[in-house]
Amino acid sequence: MNILLTGGAGYIGSHTAVELAKAGYNVIIADNFCNSSPKVIKRLEEITGKSFALYNIDVADKNALRRVFKENQIDAAIHFAGYKSVGESVKVPLCYYRNNIDTTLSLLEVMEEFGCRKLVFSSSATVYGTKAPVPYKEDMETGNCANPYGWTKLFIERIITDYSAANSDFSAVILRYFNPVGAHESGLIGEDPRDIPNNLMPYISKVAVGELEKLSIFGSDYPTKDGTGVRDYIHVTDLAKGHVCALEYAEKHAGTEVFNLGTGKGISVLEMLRAYEKACGNKIPHEFVPRREGDLAEYYADSSKAERVLGWKTELSVEDMCRDAWNWQKNNPKGYEE
Ligand code: NAD
Ligand code: UDP
Repeated sequence: MNILLTGGAGYIGSHTAVELAKAGYNVIIADNFCNSSPKVIKRLEEITGKSFALYNIDVADKNALRRVFKENQIDAAIHFAGYKSVGESVKVPLCYYRNNIDTTLSLLEVMEEFGCRKLVFSSSATVYGTKAPVPYKEDMETGNCANPYGWTKLFIERIITDYSAANSDFSAVILRYFNPVGAHESGLIGEDPRDIPNNLMPYISKVAVGELEKLSIFGSDYPTKDGTGVRDYIHVTDLAKGHVCALEYAEKHAGTEVFNLGTGKGISVLEMLRAYEKACGNKIPHEFVPRREGDLAEYYADSSKAERVLGWKTELSVEDMCRDAWNWQKNNPKGYEE
């Protein structure tokens, strides 16, 4: 089966490409490298021993996308392409709405033209907004998103749900990711942020490797186990495997189904820091600073639906996440730049 990965050169897409290739799928990647490197393709081939068709295109460009569908019989698409920085989305909201929604509409329209009826979409726990009680469950109300990025995800979920309601042969699986971290165990692919990272794990990695001076811990007075923020961190390889299960599900079902992909466990910033220190064998300089605006104290997934329906659950621990993140960071201190 031929699977199109929009944004397949990115952090989660590249790890998913590996798991799909291992499961016997033929992977076609469409990416414009606005937040990734073409060098990832060689690494994917090194890991899997397979080749990956690559289209350097803007996924919002329907003519370019048509070429991909003309040249390949695409059986299903996984839609990763989009902008993902929460802070940036507050500064340039129109860019976020334009890119995230246009890529989705173009993909759905071209899929319709070519009779491709299966889609998996990368959504986010951020759609639960700022008021939902934990743990988050798929049937909870969504909305109250804290930033434009979150709203793009919610609007896209709506677009996909409406489209599949109007087309009874269409199957959509919406995956709400929690906090993906870590890297492939080979150390050949991993997260490669372009600027100073905003997210916790890549920031810790840059401090551990000596590129940044110290970690600022945003808030020590949250009503959590140790006063620092709590999230549901998921190893990117576990997350990638969730996409293989989602595709298998989409092959057998029509309609839209939503799944949380998380571990179901909340980990604090301090717990993550200690685990990383153990993995890299060094103390990681840090300081406590005031809370970051817009941050929630604590959230984590109820992932029982994915386990029950998809037969998927996470297998890797926080120790595995830190070991693999550090392995990637120390072997590739400049990411894919070399
Ligand atoms: P990423 O930035 O590493 O990957 C996205 C890829 O899409 C990049 O390779 C980028 O070059 C490409 N892209 C963006 N716009 C494009 C366009 N118009 N045409 C072609 N390619 C385009 O991000 P990621 O962490 O791998 O995230 C993948 C998806 O998962 C995104 O939709 C993101 O919003 C979502 N998600 C990510 C997280 C996270 O914490 N990483 C959490 C929840 C959801
Ligand atoms: N965090 C922190 N310092 C950083 C980055 C993040 O203390 O430099 C905290 C943040 O306040 C939150 C947790 O780490 O409690 C996860 O933040 P991240 O940005 O990785 O994910 P998100 O907040 O989007 O879930």
